[in-house]
Amino acid sequence: MPAQPGFVTRFYTARGFRVTSPFGPRPDPFKPGETEFHTGIDFGGKPQGTPVETPAQGTVFAARSYTGWGNLVAITDFRGYIHLHAHLDSIKVYPGQKVARGDVIGTLGRTGTATGVHLHYQINRPGTDVRGDGYFGNPDEYIFDEVMDVERAIVLGSDADYFNAAPLRDKLNCPVFSRSALGQLKAVKTVYICGGGVEEVVKAAPNAELVNLSGNNRYETARKIQEFLKM
Ligand SMILES: [Zn+2]
Repeated sequence: MPAQPGFVTRFYTARGFRVTSPFGPRPDPFKPGETEFHTGIDFGGKPQGTPVETPAQGTVFAARSYTGWGNLVAITDFRGYIHLHAHLDSIKVYPGQKVARGDVIGTLGRTGTATGVHLHYQINRPGTDVRGDGYFGNPDEYIFDEVMDVERAIVLGSDADYFNAAPLRDKLNCPVFSRSALGQLKAVKTVYICGGGVEEVVKAAPNAELVNLSGNNRYETARKIQEFLKM
């Protein structure tokens, strides 16, 4: 865990949960002597059936039982990242439902592959699914933007453009969207396009001012961003 607990840990510990297994390598609970990589954070310390709220805000992407995950609720946030809540006892939301931070999405359980009653919280990257190795990294290192009605946003061509766009994000202090989250752009007034074409963005945000920083390839895009930052 980072020295300062991140937003996800603070959200759940404020509600009486505790971290029972952090993100990262750990002894495999099912294969003694082996190590596995834990792709989320486990929260426990509360009884089965305790309501589980979500720190995410967005649209329910999946709400059903999966082998391994057990009863799973996955929420796509406005940036396109997918927030997984696994091993739930019961599910209280349905696919397509809009949820806000603090909404109850299910109850605490131990369905699927779980050694005890706990919530597994994981964040997957835009464009991935609930399966596979789509995990973003430590959920506590994901930055939750508190303001949803943003005036400015950066749109990436692909995940690979994230590194190019990072200095721009830091300078503008605005959120970064993947193209899979274009539907959330309607209220945005200025869109900075970092990779990919403008046509899709024009459709998604017809009234926005567009600043096109895309080049013909990743290196040109990086150069355009650098030049823009010097202005
Ligand atoms: Zn877990």
